[in-house]
Amino acid sequence: MHTSNRRPVLGCIADDFTGATDLASTLVRGGMRTIQTIGVPASAVLGEVDALVVALKSRTIDAKDAIAQSLAALDWLRGQGCRQFFFKYCSTFDSTDAGNIGPVAEALLDALAAGGEGGFAIACPAFPENGRTVYRGHLFVGDALLSESGMENHPLTPMRDPNLVRVLQRQSASKVGLIASATVAAGADAVRGAIAKLRADGVRLAIADALTDADLRTLGEACADLPLVTGGSGVAIGLPENFRRAGLIEPNDKAADLPAVSGAALVLAGSASKATNAQVAEWIAVRPAYRVDPRALARGEGVVDAALAFIDTHAAQPVLIYATAAPGEVSEVQRELGVAAAGKLVEDALAAIAREAKTRGVRKFVVAGGETSGAVVQALGIDMLQIGPPIDPGVPVTVALGETPLVLALKSGNFGARDFFAKALRYAEGERS
Ligand code: ADP
Repeated sequence: MHTSNRRPVLGCIADDFTGATDLASTLVRGGMRTIQTIGVPASAVLGEVDALVVALKSRTIDAKDAIAQSLAALDWLRGQGCRQFFFKYCSTFDSTDAGNIGPVAEALLDALAAGGEGGFAIACPAFPENGRTVYRGHLFVGDALLSESGMENHPLTPMRDPNLVRVLQRQSASKVGLIASATVAAGADAVRGAIAKLRADGVRLAIADALTDADLRTLGEACADLPLVTGGSGVAIGLPENFRRAGLIEPNDKAADLPAVSGAALVLAGSASKATNAQVAEWIAVRPAYRVDPRALARGEGVVDAALAFIDTHAAQPVLIYATAAPGEVSEVQRELGVAAAGKLVEDALAAIAREAKTRGVRKFVVAGGETSGAVVQALGIDMLQIGPPIDPGVPVTVALGETPLVLALKSGNFGARDFFAKALRYAEGERS
């Protein structure tokens, strides 16, 4: 039986919204009841919960702002009773040379090491179920190196170096190390030994290789006593077992249950990733879709109103509103309008469409794009999400609790199969497989 005053044990800080959702989903699958918050809440979380995930929007902001927000999240999580902390970033290690993975991880280590002793954390973005593996410090997406995976064309964080030790070193003050595949394959004791050696050498952050879920579980076990773990959501699969072993949580097969919600549905796509391009193509071949043109937005044309009119004329069926375009088209628009300005125009437009759609009775939103999801969730005034079952790996269906409950499926650009949008809509209606 669960005691009524059970406090969360694991406190997570994610650098974007969909990443937070992906992590929360992993924890739910591990039997941990999980609530995701949007930003740092002003109040405490009520009710029984095993894990909390604070979703920030800190991936591409200034490093010092990312640090400040992450430390505020850490303070809040400590206040909720969490005893271990997880810094979650993208499984494609999305960052620039200025940060923010290294600076935030180091600041969290400093804050947790209270005596100034330094501390240590692994850095492991591997997510084998989604094709992300790390070998000798190099990140692969499927069969391709990160730098040849399409990520080299990302609008905000182009990844052109697949060697993560090098990438993390460029954005870290202290020495970055590697826990190599052979060590991980040798088990948790071997990893603990490698960590002790790295620490003795003055290393505070080390990229950890992982090729399989078994590797991730080994890493999780080896990090059971470390206050901070950093990585993609994959490495979190090893954490629930640590808490069970320590008697801090009990297995819960109802961790993914969600309340029912009725109302109309809408799909919004603001990601320009390969996967989203394929999903948009699959949808527009057979179902109604309206394209948001960034140039028309820049000219101040009534794009939002036109999209809403399109939604109204298809009231009986869900439509797709998308800005998604091929990489060549995106870079051309970025050259004309500026990268940040183009991104903001599109995000603001999709957010405004979501807000107006809600006033017209839409209660289910499927959203593609990390930044885009953040903008939409903010526009809808959502601050906490209960996490349900996964639609595709890393993407759960969720319910925003509050006066007007809403179903949300928030997808990071590169996630989901080609038929993701249709499948997400079925899940939003209550289907579970
Ligand atoms: P992902 O999860 O694929 O990274 P995001 O939503 O996080 O997707 O980031 C995509 C960024 O690209 C957003 O800022 C979005 O507004 C912008 N964007 C989307 N479509 C276009 C386009 N056609 N032209 C220029 N920028 C675009």
